[in-house]
Amino acid sequence: MRKLDRNLAKKPDNWSQTARKAVPDHPKFEQRATEFEALDINDPQRRAGFQTFAPEVLPKRGFKSSWGRHKEEIAKISHGKCSYCECRLNADCVMQVEHFKPKALFPLSAYDWDNYLLACGGCNMPKSDNWPTEGEYVRPDHPAYTPEAHFQFRSDGDVDWLNPEAERTVIDFELRRKRLVDDRRWYLDRFVKNVIDDILELTSENYASALRKASILGESLNDPEFPYSTAFKQYASAALRKALPGFSI
Ligand SMILES: [Zn+2]
Repeated sequence: MRKLDRNLAKKPDNWSQTARKAVPDHPKFEQRATEFEALDINDPQRRAGFQTFAPEVLPKRGFKSSWGRHKEEIAKISHGKCSYCECRLNADCVMQVEHFKPKALFPLSAYDWDNYLLACGGCNMPKSDNWPTEGEYVRPDHPAYTPEAHFQFRSDGDVDWLNPEAERTVIDFELRRKRLVDDRRWYLDRFVKNVIDDILELTSENYASALRKASILGESLNDPEFPYSTAFKQYASAALRKALPGFSI
């Protein structure tokens, strides 16, 4: 999960107007949503969702998905990749706008522009309306977020968590799902490990050339569009640390 910068996406000029128009009676919606969010997060009434609590303030089909029209703009935050698993989202049909705070539990954030992130179906579907009973999930656009403090990626494509917040994130977003682990391993085997082997071989005969090659690899892995770049940066840094002391990606 790469650190993300929300400023890369521009909030639409008329967004507050759009948000007000999304519900039939906005003041009434805000009043009921405020009452709902005053309930404890683990209160059964809250867990049953806002649509059950106050259906009268929502359109018949539930929240109007006005965010969907801005998918391309929201995609800029994560460089067209899923904000959580970092898979590339090339086809529009698999791109989903994810509410970091689920609208069923946080209706006041349903039209909060800063609550949107791009996600793939593989992460967004299992997460759905889930929310931890205490604390939050790891948030990739949080200013203090650093991947190394939360996740340790393995050379076989799998990932370990380093704290309870990361554990909840890995489990609820299914970041250890087989297809994802396989895909990470596929890229690692074909695009990263070979280059690292070459660099390691070169270090004894031509250190300067090895260092140059390592820098080029570093540039690729720092490219925000490179899939699974966080996992591969961790792997490459660890693999090259001993042979190229002082080198970092
Ligand atoms: Zn994903």
